Formats: sequence, structure tokens, C-alpha cells
Amino acid sequence: MRYPALKIDLAKLENNTRFLVEKCAHYGIGVSAVTKVFCGIPEVAEAMARGGAAYLADSRIENLMKMRNINLPKMLLRIPMLSQVDEVIDYADISLNSEHEVISALSNAAIKKGKTHDIILMVDLGDLREGVWADEAVEYAGRILALNGIRLMGIGTNLTCYGAVIPKADNLSKLTDIADRIEQRFGIKLSIISGGNSSSLYLLEEGAMPRRINNLRLGESIVLGNETAYGNRIKGTFSDCFTFCAEIIELKEKQSVPVGEIGVDAFGNKPTYVDRGIRKRAILAAGRQDLKPEGLSPKDDAIIILGASSDHMIIDVTDSGRDYSIGDIVEFTLDYGALLLASTSDYIEKVIE
Ligand SMILES: *Cc1c(COP(=O)(O)O)cnc(C)c1O
Repeated sequence: MRYPALKIDLAKLENNTRFLVEKCAHYGIGVSAVTKVFCGIPEVAEAMARGGAAYLADSRIENLMKMRNINLPKMLLRIPMLSQVDEVIDYADISLNSEHEVISALSNAAIKKGKTHDIILMVDLGDLREGVWADEAVEYAGRILALNGIRLMGIGTNLTCYGAVIPKADNLSKLTDIADRIEQRFGIKLSIISGGNSSSLYLLEEGAMPRRINNLRLGESIVLGNETAYGNRIKGTFSDCFTFCAEIIELKEKQSVPVGEIGVDAFGNKPTYVDRGIRKRAILAAGRQDLKPEGLSPKDDAIIILGASSDHMIIDVTDSGRDYSIGDIVEFTLDYGALLLASTSDYIEKVIE
């Protein structure tokens, strides 16, 4: 095996998916399993499909291309670029949209290819990322309905991303009201009302999810088992579907505080040091080019992460019960940001188990 490595436990990921799919099904909600944090690796997405996901969803068309042979409808999460509408029609069955200019270009591309593409109109309920403002949504839907080659499949919203606004019965019921008004005004039926991401899950348990919400787009909750409105663990899910593994290349007793005048580190920061005396320190062959050390938690909880430069990560192993040697592999769980970087780094071997 090559290091650094990201080990991926497909059985655990399938378990997490199934657990959340069943929970949502109980409330009449289908799950779009979000694959972007692991860059759409097809074998990993397949585990989500086995777990019962209704759709595979990603923000990048490149990732949807990788998953084209998996037999589930694909949903493009990020508003399409005008320059990419042809690929969107080719590789996404559904896209989330908020700009008429883009929707109109999708319509033309779909007509040209003899296809029908499904649109979910995004409504901004206050988080201030994507979406049309609530009072424009019905008009906007009307303009979409006038276009050929595309279908208005439904509406959706995204919260807790930019503005960190928490989904509640009152903001989400605005979304279902808009759905009702679109249906009445135009005499149509919307098949999807997508009530957000992992931060909406807690509403199920509180019995506060508006009844017409019938889709959630779940990434972090499946992949890491986190509820993201309040940052709680979801009981019944695994937090270690992904494990980061790095190899020790130096192991020495050194003092805790650098010797000499302290300037700025390789990233322009003025570091501070805790004086723990002489300590046993290990250098791992991985660094900021591969991941965010602040987002790692050592599986050996006696290890202290001291810091990292581009290609070296320094840990303190003095208090560990394990007698580490050069060449040993140290394992970590990852938070969302660290997992995103680790997945993206070409230097990290992806090992599927
Ligand atoms: C990333 C993303 C999601 C998934 O968010 P999680 O917090 O990981 O569940 C859902 N919807 C959109 C539009 C996204 O970009």
C-alpha cells in the first residue's frame, strides 16, 4: 500500500446510507446522496446506491461523469455554468437552478439533443447563497414552464451553508407554500420539494418537518454521521467510514519550544508553543498540500497534533501506550474539510475496503 492513504469502508458507508434512507422514508422523504466530498469515486457512490439512495447528487459535472454507469438519476447541485450546459444535459438528469439565462440555455441544449432535462428551482429562504427570492418564485416558475426541452420537476432550498441559517418549520413551510401556489396558479404538480441538506434532518425527530417536503440532499450526515444544524452525532451511524493513514519518517526526542528567535512559519503565521519539556515527536509524510491537520483526530487519542507544513506533519507520541517506530502508520478520522482536501489530493492513495 502507498502512503499517505485514505481508507474507505464501503460497508460502513452503505450502513449509514441505509440508516438515513430508512429514517427519511418513514416521513415520506427520498434521499439524494451527495457524493462531492469524496469527488464522486464510483465504487463509493455505488455503496450509497446499495444503501437505498433515490438520486446521486454532486456539485461538479466532472464527478457526475465518473458516476455515469451507476443506474440512478444524477442531480447537479451547483447552479450550472453557462459554459457547461451541454455537459449538464449529457450527464445530469436534474439540475438545481436560479438563473433564467442558464435555464433558457439548458432548454436550447436539451432541444438540440432531443432530451428532456429536469429543473429544480432553488428558493433563497435567507441563507444568501443560491436561489431566487421567495416573492419572485412563482413568477420565475411560470417563465420556466414556458420553455421546451425542460420540465419544472420541483423547487428546493439550501440553508446552513453561507449564512448558517438553521432550517425550521417556519422557513421551510414558506417553501411548501410556494409549491402550493405554483401548483394552483399553473395547474401542475411538482414532484420534488427538496428541503435542504444534512442540517434539516433534526426536524424529523422533532416532528417539525413540513409535510410536503419529500426530498433531502444528504452529504455529511451519510459520510460522517453528523447532524449539521447543531453539530450532533447521529446515533446508529459510523463516523469512521473514512480513515486517513500517514507514515512516520522521523522519530526523535526533542524539546517542545523551537530554539532561536521566532519569526513567521511557512504560511506567514506567528506560531505559539506550549512548553511540555522534552517530548517524543514523530514526523509524518503528509502535510497541508494534502489536507487540513486541524480537521484530523488521531485514532490513538494519546497523540497530540503539533502542526504541519506543506509536506510534513508533526505529532507528539510521548503519552501513547504504543511504542511507535519509523515506518509505522498512524491513523486519523477526518472532519468534513479535511476529508474534502484528502479526497481531492492526488498525493493521497484512495484505498477501498
Ligand atoms: C453540498 C450540498 C448539499 C449536501 O450538504 P451536506 O451538509 O453535506 O448534507 C446539499 N445541497 C447542496 C445544494 C449542496 O451544495
